Amino acid sequence: MTSNILLACHGLSAVVDEKPILHEIDLEIPQGEVHVLMGPNGAGKSTFGHVLMGDPVYEVTAGDISFDGEDVTELAPDKRSRAGLFLSFQAPVEIPGVPLRSFLRAIMEGRGEKMKNKEFRKKLQALAETLDMDPAYLDRELGVGFSGGEKKKVEMMQLLLLQPKLAILDETDSGLDVDALSVVSRGMELYRGTCDGTLLIITHNTRILEHLNVDRVHVMVQGRVVAEGSADLIAEIDANGFERYEAQLDA
Ligand code: ADP
Ligand code: MG
Repeated sequence: MTSNILLACHGLSAVVDEKPILHEIDLEIPQGEVHVLMGPNGAGKSTFGHVLMGDPVYEVTAGDISFDGEDVTELAPDKRSRAGLFLSFQAPVEIPGVPLRSFLRAIMEGRGEKMKNKEFRKKLQALAETLDMDPAYLDRELGVGFSGGEKKKVEMMQLLLLQPKLAILDETDSGLDVDALSVVSRGMELYRGTCDGTLLIITHNTRILEHLNVDRVHVMVQGRVVAEGSADLIAEIDANGFERYEAQLDA
């Protein structure tokens, strides 16, 4: 590979139930950068995240996705995960009867990572401390009775355990409270700091971006990328919304 482009989509179009959602998306993310995807509700941002992960609900009808120098357009989600792609769960999981500890272990093993039990315990303990999580949570049933902030801690634990090459965090509709917000910010900082991770953050909530150096912003409206720019675009959108982009498309 001659460039340091980690993710590249070219002319990517996708449908769900034969309904076109994404239209000829061109988007590139160089290794190590922080990118933000913004857009009004229903623009197709979450769909884009799921298409990148290979969610079979969506069908790619044109274009391709290359990741880390490999064409992943036809790869199954687990293979993409092994290649280093990660998408945060927007709907938090609850699995009664399964302790958080076992869930995290299963995720690691699913990724083909073998680790001794004792070593894994130590690692989880350290992670819980870093994230200010009561280690007792590791033995509680996954998600059952967890607060919004605690669910986010579980998500950030997954991120920091798996250390993916690209983390796509879809925070758009999750209604983050102040607690959850600070957990996500901290998790993102740790991910950046410990593994020089590349980020694609899907969000309306620009407070989440305050502690990050955002390299590039992509604006999606009606399934198209209609604008791209530097971090300055965030303040501009905060002030003016998406109307002018929508007006351009409707014209
Ligand atoms: P955003 O995340 O930008 O708010 P989405 O990607 O969730 O937007 O949705 C974009 C469009 O695709 C919406 O019209 C939505 O109803 C539709 N859509 C997304 N996923 C599905 C699905 N699984 N089945 C049917 N329609 C879907
Ligand atoms: Mg969404």
